[in-house]
Formats: sequence, C-alpha cells, structure tokens
Amino acid sequence: MPSAARALPAATRPPCAGLWDTPMVQVNGDVTVCCLDEHLENKIGNVNVTPLADLWTGEVIERWRRAHVEGRFADSGPYCTRCNWRSAGGLSPERVAAWRAGVSRA
Ligand code: SF4
Repeated sequence: MPSAARALPAATRPPCAGLWDTPMVQVNGDVTVCCLDEHLENKIGNVNVTPLADLWTGEVIERWRRAHVEGRFADSGPYCTRCNWRSAGGLSPERVAAWRAGVSRA
C-alpha cells in the first residue's frame, strides 16, 4: 500500500492517469479509481445504482481530476492523496489539455 512517506511533492508529481483510465469495479458493483484502492477509500458509487459511464464522468471524480491537474493532491481523493501514482503512470500534458478543453465546453 502506498504511504504518505513515499508520496512525491506536488511540484514533481503529475496528474495520475488512473483517474482517467482505470475504473475498478468490485464484485458487488462498488466502483473506485484504480486497483490499488482495495479498501475503497476512493469509492465513487456502485454500478447497481448508477451506470459506470455516469460514475466515471460524475462530479466527484471530476473534482478529483481537477485537483490532480492543479497539483492539489490533498484534495484529490483520500487514497490518491498519499499514493505514489507510479502504478498507473502520469497523465501526459496533451491529455491534460484535452481534458481541460472538454471540461471548459461542458
Ligand atoms: S494516484 Fe494512486 S490511488 Fe489515485 S488513481 Fe492514481 S494510482 Fe490510483
């Protein structure tokens, strides 16, 4: 499990691609942001209640994405806050720009 001691300073940490690329659906339908979150600290809902597409574009995860993009990792979801992000990798500047463009059109 990632620890706070391993988390990088915001200035050297990119947004994590996991928040865009790796929805994780548990056997009971609970959804979290990536496979590291085995205790569902970053749970965003349940597919038996809300379609996955709606959860993955919902207010909570979009708020956490914005926090990642702005380097505000303390606001980026309880588990992301102390994660080292390296398993999912960083989101490229091109993808950040595309996400920002999509958000600004919404
Ligand atoms: S920062 Fe860590 S916990 Fe958050 S989505 Fe990325 S890999 Fe998962």
